[in-house]
Amino acid sequence: MKLNHLTDETLLDDTLKLVERERNIGGQILWHLKEIDRRKLFVELKCSSLFDYCVRILKYSEGQASRRVSGTRLLKDLPGIAGKIENGSLNLTQLNQANFFFRDEKISSPEKKAEILKKIENRSTRETERILHEHRKEAVSRNVFLVVKEETKKKLEKVRDLKAHTCPDNDSLITKMCDEVTKIWDPTLIKRMSHGSTEGRFIPKMIEAQVWSRDRGVCTKCQGTYALELDHIKPFAVGGKSTVENLRLLCRACNQRQRVTYFQNTIPDKNAFQLKRPDG
Ligand SMILES: [Zn+2]
Repeated sequence: MKLNHLTDETLLDDTLKLVERERNIGGQILWHLKEIDRRKLFVELKCSSLFDYCVRILKYSEGQASRRVSGTRLLKDLPGIAGKIENGSLNLTQLNQANFFFRDEKISSPEKKAEILKKIENRSTRETERILHEHRKEAVSRNVFLVVKEETKKKLEKVRDLKAHTCPDNDSLITKMCDEVTKIWDPTLIKRMSHGSTEGRFIPKMIEAQVWSRDRGVCTKCQGTYALELDHIKPFAVGGKSTVENLRLLCRACNQRQRVTYFQNTIPDKNAFQLKRPDG
């Protein structure tokens, strides 16, 4: 592309227009990613998450993917941010900063999120960091680096995959591990635990163990190991039993995808029924 014939004015003007278009496309991409996420469509492409899809299929770098996934998450609660990306008052880096901040500080109310986002509009990355820092309840985030053997790392990754639903980050995972180990190792707690374990209200531990062993600890759809869940083949809500035969292992993504397709397949039927009825 040769631009040396352009006047300075045209060059600056064209650049401005291109960047406007780029931001506009950026906003549209977020809407598309949000819909893909809602449908869990990435599962069809053997991706374990929207992030995985952004990296492997869309070829974004991990940083680019993280920023877009953050933007998509925020867009769910706050549809107005798409317009702010398009007019440039917020950028994806800021949304990423804000998304992690909301998660760390356990802020879930859309009103509170909107209030904080308002404060970082038209600010630089560094200013955004400072503003968010001022809103932290306690400024005690410390990085801990662990040097471990490859084998230990694999064990940690396995535990992380198993507990991905309840412990989405390292901090909650390590807290959970400590709590669980304390239950086993703290002699004062052993008695209480043996009483509690008989109250199996949901799926009996024995059944759970048999399903895990039969399905060899992998998702029965995609063979993944991340965030596995026990799924009732005939749903519990329609009388499906918690038996080995009616249970299978699915990863969270496949399970969510399955729920979406279940609704897509059942709702049109209902509509068809309702449409027919008035005619008799
Ligand atoms: Zn799966």
